[in-house]
Amino acid sequence: MELRRLTDRVFYTMFSKESDRPVLGYIQGQKRSIMVDSGNSKNHVEMFNEAVRKEGFRKPDVIAITHWHWDHTFGMHAVEGVTVTHKKTNDKLAEIAKWEWTDSEMKKRLAEEVEIEFADTCIRQEYPLLSEIRVVTSDISFSGSMEIDLGGLVAELHHVASPHSDDSVCIFVPQERVLFISDAVGVDYYNNCYLDKDQLRSLLTAIEGFDFDTCVVGHAEPVSKQKKLPS
Ligand SMILES: [Zn+2]
Repeated sequence: MELRRLTDRVFYTMFSKESDRPVLGYIQGQKRSIMVDSGNSKNHVEMFNEAVRKEGFRKPDVIAITHWHWDHTFGMHAVEGVTVTHKKTNDKLAEIAKWEWTDSEMKKRLAEEVEIEFADTCIRQEYPLLSEIRVVTSDISFSGSMEIDLGGLVAELHHVASPHSDDSVCIFVPQERVLFISDAVGVDYYNNCYLDKDQLRSLLTAIEGFDFDTCVVGHAEPVSKQKKLPS
């Protein structure tokens, strides 16, 4: 795993399809740095930290979470910095933290439609030993939005409407013109892949409001916003 450069102060690591590992972000200030999402396991966190170390950068001081889905949060117990989530994310994590990770309990959750097939399959791929799964809540939670001063660089966390999950948070770095939206534009896998068009419309309006050049998504290459031609 390697850290890829988006701007002088914003980096990311690639997603991987095998066990549905998402893109992770690294935002580097003079005093502090942020990791965007905690990845899906301790292994994922360790690979990320190794990529950061290879560049000679500091370990992330703050870990900002984009939404509750397992692939973005199950590494939270293994990070060293302070974790930050939206309140709704934290409520959901508190619920999942009570789940038992045995074959039979996982099958039961599938039968009761508490869990979805895709997540179940990928979790089993990431964790040959299910007993290694640990789900924790965050150190700090917020509603609305919050700003984090990294030293010469500010990161903004904004709760946004999203058809993917109602706790979706976008992370905007205005000085670097980078916006992390994670999976926010996707369908709701936990509601039969339903796409709520009103939620999508609100999200797109919110995204339009951010002045960015590059948009970092959860499970694909970052995309650049097409520059408008001068009229
Ligand atoms: Zn997701």
